[in-house]
Amino acid sequence: MTLSSAVSKVQLGKGKIMSKEYDVAIIGAGTAGLTAQEEVVQHTDNYVLIDDGPLGTTCARVGCMPSKALIAVADDFHKCTFFDEYGINGTQKLIPDYQKIMARVRSMADEFAHGVIQEMSGFMDKVIRKRARFLNPNTLDLGDETIRAKRIIIATGSTTVIPDSWLPFREFIIDTDQFFELETLPRTMAVFGLGVIGIELGQALHRLGVQVTAINRRKTAGGLTDPKLAEYAFDHFSKEMPIELGTAEILGRTDTGLQVGCGSKSWNVDRVLIATGRRPALKGLSLENLNLDLDADGIPVFDHQTLQVGNLPVFLAGDVTGRQSILHEAADEGTIAGYNACAGTMSRFKKRIPLKITFSSPDIAIAGLSHKALMEKGIDYVVGEASWEGLGRARMMLGKAAGRARIYAEPQQGRLLGAEIMAPAGEHMAHLLAWTMGADLTIKQILGMPFYHPVPEEALWDAFFQIAEQINEPVPMPMLEKIKGRSHGE
Ligand SMILES: Cc1cc2nc3c(=O)[nH]c(=O)nc-3n(C[C@H](O)[C@H](O)[C@H](O)COP(=O)(O)OP(=O)(O)OC[C@H]3O[C@@H](n4cnc5c(N)ncnc54)[C@H](O)[C@@H]3O)c2cc1C
Repeated sequence: MTLSSAVSKVQLGKGKIMSKEYDVAIIGAGTAGLTAQEEVVQHTDNYVLIDDGPLGTTCARVGCMPSKALIAVADDFHKCTFFDEYGINGTQKLIPDYQKIMARVRSMADEFAHGVIQEMSGFMDKVIRKRARFLNPNTLDLGDETIRAKRIIIATGSTTVIPDSWLPFREFIIDTDQFFELETLPRTMAVFGLGVIGIELGQALHRLGVQVTAINRRKTAGGLTDPKLAEYAFDHFSKEMPIELGTAEILGRTDTGLQVGCGSKSWNVDRVLIATGRRPALKGLSLENLNLDLDADGIPVFDHQTLQVGNLPVFLAGDVTGRQSILHEAADEGTIAGYNACAGTMSRFKKRIPLKITFSSPDIAIAGLSHKALMEKGIDYVVGEASWEGLGRARMMLGKAAGRARIYAEPQQGRLLGAEIMAPAGEHMAHLLAWTMGADLTIKQILGMPFYHPVPEEALWDAFFQIAEQINEPVPMPMLEKIKGRSHGE
C-alpha cells in the first residue's frame, strides 16, 4: 500500500494534525537513515523518513568527501617541497589560491550531495522535512503535526561539541559543518584536538601554508591507542607542524580573532578549528518521554547487535550510537535497524572486522582489535613490528620514508587479532590486514602469500616474520610448502 504523509490526516486540538500510523518512521536522512530506508522498503511501503536539515548526508556535504578533496590538493602541493631534491626547478613559483581551492572542494561536495539527493528522488513523497521529537515510544511530534509509527529508528548522526565557556567566541570558532563553507582560508589557525578530523584537516591546512598550531591533550594522533605507536606518531607530526601537548584554552579576543593558549604558552590566531570530538545528536529528541535507561554518556542503553533500545520499538543507527564515526559502520547499522524494525523477532548480525582509517600523511589506521581493546579484554598476544623508515621504495618517494606498525597475533598459530598502523599507503595495508583477519589465516598461511618487490607492503613481511618466531606452533623451514607427489617436470 502506498501512503503519502498528506493522506488520512485528522485535525487534533491546539492546531496539531495527527496523521495515519506508519509501520516505520526513520528520523534522519543521513547515511544510516538512508540505508535503513533501503532495507525498510523491502518489507513495507508504509514508512516515513524525517529530516529537517540539509539533505545529502554529512559524509558527502561536510564530512568524508570534502575533507578528502582538500587533503588531495594539500598533499599534491606539499610534494613541491621535495622537487628541488628530485632535480625539478622552479617550484618557488607555485602558490596555492585559497579561494579557488575552497571553491573546488565545495563544488565537489555539492556534486556528491546532489548525487545522494538524486538517488532519493524515487521516494521523496516519503520524506518529511521537519524536526522530530518523541511524545512516547510510538508517537513523534513534528511541530505542526504528530505521527504514530509501530517502530522508530533514530539515525540523527552526531554534532560538534563546543564548551559553554567558549560560546562568547563562537564567531571565531569553526567546526566541520562550517569549515567547507569558508570562501578562503585564514592566515593563522589553532586546531584543537588531534583525533581523526584534527590531524587530517590540521595537516592539510599546514601543507597549504596556513600557520597552524595544533593542541592535543595526549601524545597521540588519529585515534592510535598503542602507546609506542601513539608517541611515535605524535613526535613525527610535531616535526612537520607545531603541535602543543596540553589542554587548549581560549584566553580572549584580539582585533582580528582570538588569543588561545596551552599551559604557559599563548598566541593569537584568526580562527580556531574545533576537532575535540563529536557527540551523538540526541538533544531535542525528548528522550525523557521514553522512560529509558541512559548510559554514563547519556546515550540510551541499546543492544549492540540488534540495535534495539531496551524493550522499546525504537532503534539506534549510525553516529548517534556514540560508538564510532565511521561511514560503513553507519551504513551497516542502518541496514540492521531497518531489518529489525520490520521483522517480527530481533535478529543479531555478525559485525565486520573493525577498520578505521585516518587520511593523514602517512596514513593512520586500526584494523581488527586496537591495542586498547586487547588490553581491556585481557587477550594474550604476540606482536610484530614493521617500519617504513628505511624501506627502499618509501625512501624513493620523498617524504614517505616514515611510519611504523604494530601487529598483534594470537600466540598459538599467529592468527592476526589486530593492528595499529602509521604508514605510507596505510589505507591499503589496513584493508589487507583486515581482510587477512576476516579470512582467519594463520601466520604460516600469510607468509605463504606473495610479497612483490619493491612495494610498501614489504615492511609487513618483517612484522609477520617476528610473529612467526614467537608463536607456539613453529612455522616449518623452509617456509615454502612442499608439494606432495612426483614432479611432472613443469
Ligand atoms: C570532517 C569529517 C570527515 C569524516 N571522514 C570520514 C571518512 O573519511 N570515512 C568515514 O568512514 N567516516 C568519516 N566521517 C564520519 C562519517 O561522515 C559519519 O560516520 C557518517 O556521516 C554518519 O552518518 P549518520 O547517518 O549517522 O549521520 P548523518 O549523515 O549526520 O545524518 C543525520 C541526519 O539526521 C538529521 N537530524 C538530526 N536530528 C534530527 C531531528 N531531531 N529530526 C529530524 N532530523 C534530524 C540531520 O539533519 C542529518 O541529516 C567523517 C566525518 C566528518 C565530520
